[in-house]
Amino acid sequence: MTSTPRRKRVRVTRRASGWHRDSSNTDATQPARTISQASLNRMVEPYLPPPRASDGVGQALTGCPDSDGDLEETARIARDLIRFDTSNYGSSRANGEREAAEYVEAYLSGLGLTPRLFEPDARRTSLTVRVPGRNRTKPALVVHGHLDVVPAEASEWSVDPFAGTIQDGMLWGRGAVDMKDMDAMILAALRDILSTGAQPERDLIVAFFADEEAGGVLGSHWLVDNHPEVFAGATEAISEVGGYSITIDGKRAYLLQTGEKGLLWLRLRSRGAAAHGSRHIRDNAITALAEAVVRLGRMEWPVRLTATTRELLAGVAKIVGVDPHERSPDELARATGTAAGFVTPTLRTTSNPTVLQAGYKHNVIPARAEALIDVRTLPGEDESVLAQIRALVGEQIEVTVVHRDVSLENPRHGALVDAVTASLGRHDPGAPILPYLMSGGTDNKALSELGIAGYGFAPLLLPADFDFPAMFHGIDERVPLDALTFGRKVLGDLLRTY
Ligand SMILES: [Zn+2]
Repeated sequence: MTSTPRRKRVRVTRRASGWHRDSSNTDATQPARTISQASLNRMVEPYLPPPRASDGVGQALTGCPDSDGDLEETARIARDLIRFDTSNYGSSRANGEREAAEYVEAYLSGLGLTPRLFEPDARRTSLTVRVPGRNRTKPALVVHGHLDVVPAEASEWSVDPFAGTIQDGMLWGRGAVDMKDMDAMILAALRDILSTGAQPERDLIVAFFADEEAGGVLGSHWLVDNHPEVFAGATEAISEVGGYSITIDGKRAYLLQTGEKGLLWLRLRSRGAAAHGSRHIRDNAITALAEAVVRLGRMEWPVRLTATTRELLAGVAKIVGVDPHERSPDELARATGTAAGFVTPTLRTTSNPTVLQAGYKHNVIPARAEALIDVRTLPGEDESVLAQIRALVGEQIEVTVVHRDVSLENPRHGALVDAVTASLGRHDPGAPILPYLMSGGTDNKALSELGIAGYGFAPLLLPADFDFPAMFHGIDERVPLDALTFGRKVLGDLLRTY
């Protein structure tokens, strides 16, 4: 089969809110037909990314089980997705997700599904599909990933970040953990269910969003605002940055992300006298700005435990065998090993200066100076933190909110958490599951506007010494191949049973 007939089934419409491409049967109730690997390969083949003329390709193709017949399905899909350079630079600059979305569309079409594509801006493509469940009286579950990645500076990497290199039992590349791994696990798990003619337990709304790395303005937020009907009937969601294993005191446990800190991106601006660099000037915009930046950067926000972090630390203390009241929250966070990189910032608000801009000539005092501050607030603290920041920097500094997004704290117990626990337990018996509040933000923030409770559950069984937090937006981002296979099985198990 060529790709042409598939394209003919697709209708292109333009609407006031942007264009979307739609199939004539978006609410299919028929389970997918049984489908072979060979026919699935034929479906995605025309959409595969072009080979890269770099050393990375050589590394990718030698000394590893890289031929498609040998490479496990999840790793193969994740590798294909990494080869689409979907870098998102922020401030509306991005390579776009279109080709990656078309690849995913072809894969899902191969499973007998009929995805919808949305493009609010040229090449900024999101894709959704509803998979009918066995029990249609249950609320639907949103299973989502994002297709964009943060940029990668190739000269800093050991391999080409967009080659999808496989070496040392790992898949290397930008997006290997954030989050083309989970994108691939979702697709492979769906295939495991649908290719045998089976169905998930409840309706799934599967979404692959654009623009997550710039706050989801052209992805999840745009869909929630312009096409809320896509998510009709859903009450919960699962996605990234949770479900991975950590090692505490030599014992394996899993972190389930049940909440997210709030996001407050601020611009500080100071104004002063523009003058020759040789003058005696007290009213210097850079000096005033620098003082404010130091105050925020050095600010030690107080530790405050939420219901989520209290339960997490109690769980950590139990594993270590200590009384949680006899150890400080920071000590218990450090006991989580490499995961402390994720846990420590969830104990307090943080305010990190990230960009400074001022001046244009060595002997000219500029009239203004600007800094960007990335503030992450504990649930319920947005307004009070903003007021404290204004007081800290003083009246001379103008504070503008560039972007803000809500904090989330979802139930840590209930049917979904029970199902996650049971699914993990069937594949890694006895490992405890601990809730945690994530310091970053995900597309779950946008879905929360529709009353959907979003969790982070992208299951990965990781080696004890693997510094997983360092992989996110890091150099030499990589994921163990075994972890991808594990994730595919656990996720498939959850979708079949919940
Ligand atoms: Zn991500």
